[in-house]
Amino acid sequence: MLFRVIARNELENLYDMLAVNHVVGPVSRGDDTPTPMFDFDFVYDFKELRLDFPSTIHSLKRYVLPPKERFCTFTIQDNDWQKDVDLNAHKPIVYFGVHACDINALNKLDKVLSGSVYPDPYYAAKRKNMFVVGINCNPQPYCFCHSMGTDSALHGFDMFLTDLGDDYFVEIHSAQAFDCINKLNSREPDEQDHIRFLEITDKKLKKFTSHVDNTDLTKILDLEFQSESWKEWGKKCFSCGTCAAVCPTCYCYGITENVDMDLQGASKIKQLYSCNLLDFAEVAGGHNFRPDSYTRLKYRYYHKHRGFVEAFEEPLCVGCGRCGEACLAGITVPEVIASVRDKENNNE
Ligand code: SF4
Ligand code: SF4
Repeated sequence: MLFRVIARNELENLYDMLAVNHVVGPVSRGDDTPTPMFDFDFVYDFKELRLDFPSTIHSLKRYVLPPKERFCTFTIQDNDWQKDVDLNAHKPIVYFGVHACDINALNKLDKVLSGSVYPDPYYAAKRKNMFVVGINCNPQPYCFCHSMGTDSALHGFDMFLTDLGDDYFVEIHSAQAFDCINKLNSREPDEQDHIRFLEITDKKLKKFTSHVDNTDLTKILDLEFQSESWKEWGKKCFSCGTCAAVCPTCYCYGITENVDMDLQGASKIKQLYSCNLLDFAEVAGGHNFRPDSYTRLKYRYYHKHRGFVEAFEEPLCVGCGRCGEACLAGITVPEVIASVRDKENNNE
């Protein structure tokens, strides 16, 4: 990793340099509401970027794993059929202003969708087309990324910015980023920059108020599989699937095949799904392996905090807190995990 410092006013020059490509960044949505909301969207002017954003409603997931995506089409031509595959990754996109949790979420998705036995070419093609400019964040009351070890990113970005006040501290992680920074007015960090950088990191750590105790969590989940806690949370859950929709790491999906009425064409469509939805575990014949909402809610937690850890030695949760913020029933990861741990403690 290389480090540089650029003056604050150089950031717009960086943006202009990168904006020969399409740029996606955090923008304000709903300025007319008492609490402004932020989301990632295409940006056409540096002034639209809101790099001071607390969090975005959605993560970058929808750019690499769109909620709905056409995989391929089939057409009948001259008594034979033709298959057309579109990876839907036509242009490089610069993602300007991404928090460490969302970068780490992409790194986790990579493990399953790029690095596993069955890589997903649609995901991999879009991922390859990304240039990521990360930015340090200001922890919100619902963020518990520090507990999940995802409050800083070590890879998965091209450059990462930390606001030092008059300057930006820049971590450089790709040859392209190095090339960009060399075209700007930059300098090597000095002792004062190091001190300021460490002070800011320290101040950030003190702002975390939400935590998850991950100690022996996989074992506790094994022991508490029959815990009454799951039933209690299941009674609250509406099985709406919102938590999975906003989650940067949920990737479950369904595939539908649609045949045209004239039987001359067909298409294969992928749609993201949620394990909380009623029919998620329903199979042909109508049998549902998880008919109760608590079994589905429990499954989501076991996938993220147990099964994924077993497979990849890390949980499938980055502690962004989006699911808890979006949940109409007020179900949050820290509260669910704490209640299951409490049951274990009380059983001892
Ligand atoms: S946990 Fe909340 S957001 Fe998720 S399905 Fe249940 S009610 Fe919906
Ligand atoms: S489970 Fe919730 S807190 Fe964890 S990554 Fe998904 S949305 Fe964020």
